[in-house]
Amino acid sequence: MSSPLDWLDEHARKREAAGLRRLLRPREARTGLVDIAGNDYLGLARDPRVAAAAAEAAHTWGGGSTGSRLVTGTTRAHAELERDLAQFVGAEAGLVFSSGYLANLGVITALAGRGDLIVSDALNHASLIDGCRLSRARVQIVGHCAVDEVARALAERTEERAYVVTDAVFSVDGDVAPLADLAEACRAHGAALIVDEAHGVGVFGDGGQGAVHAAGLAGAPEVVMTATLSKSLGAQGGAALGGRAVMEHLVDTARPFIFDTGLAPASVGAAAEALRVLRAQPELAQRVRDRARALHELALAAGLTATVPVGAVTSVLVGDPDSAVELAGVCAEHGAAVGCFRPPSVPDGVSRLRLTARADLTDSDLKVAAGALHAVAARVGGTA
Ligand code: PMP
Repeated sequence: MSSPLDWLDEHARKREAAGLRRLLRPREARTGLVDIAGNDYLGLARDPRVAAAAAEAAHTWGGGSTGSRLVTGTTRAHAELERDLAQFVGAEAGLVFSSGYLANLGVITALAGRGDLIVSDALNHASLIDGCRLSRARVQIVGHCAVDEVARALAERTEERAYVVTDAVFSVDGDVAPLADLAEACRAHGAALIVDEAHGVGVFGDGGQGAVHAAGLAGAPEVVMTATLSKSLGAQGGAALGGRAVMEHLVDTARPFIFDTGLAPASVGAAAEALRVLRAQPELAQRVRDRARALHELALAAGLTATVPVGAVTSVLVGDPDSAVELAGVCAEHGAAVGCFRPPSVPDGVSRLRLTARADLTDSDLKVAAGALHAVAARVGGTA
């Protein structure tokens, strides 16, 4: 009997033929592989202090937050984390969401709506793109980091209100947005700047206060930040950070904040402890950047083409998605778990292996990575 979902088989066959089928591979707690695939930039996700804080928060508050933020889902721990995160990045106030994805949807849809303009970088993260789509504002996509195009779009607009939306650090190539110039364009044209600090916090700035802080924009009234608690902070969840009036507006109007159960207490506890660790050890931010540079040098030494890291990420360019999958497998055979990025995460023709550094990568971890990268180079060169 035919089903209205029969088209899924044909769709799956096409994805298979294009090298775009994805498999979930449940991992064990200890894989024996050197992890240069995850986003645990500071190595805090399994830090005993962070894990203990998560457990303690779960014991104190329960396994879940029990309700939406405006009903029972705001614990004292949520409020303290919001205050501490805001203080850390130099913002007036903060608001915790249950993911970075939802923070982006919440901020963009609460601020921008029908009759407004959003100017969006061509390489923005999917969660920013989805926020733009959901907002019903007119969205003008501009070239990657093209400040002149941003300024032109703002100058030529007919809408009164406008927002420029950008990743602080782009998730795939790991390059950083020209934040100071974007802020200047926004100021000149009466627009607000929404910056996603998912890959910036913990990595950029002297003590990991993020790329906005490093660009001298901490506390700037036209800047609204989002962040995730799931990368440098080794936990789960997201946040909006900015002026108090913005946060109050989000509490009243951001649907992903209002209609979502509050972040689980264990994640709040873990993120709060990770932030304490980062404050006590500000050198972790420099350390992850150094380790990323070391990974980049290893890739070059193996004869591969890799993007220059400004933060934690370097990407080894591969080309087609099948090769990326195969070469990620080669890395795993040689003891290193690396990220494999294919469309739709990247445009066609630029699939890549993404290597993410961690502050706690040891010299022996780097030796394993070097072996894996040499094996990749040999396979690419056809000698393995
Ligand atoms: N923004 C960027 C730039 C990201 O890379 C990610 C996660 N990959 C997110 C937002 C979403 O954050 P979360 O995983 O906390 O939902």
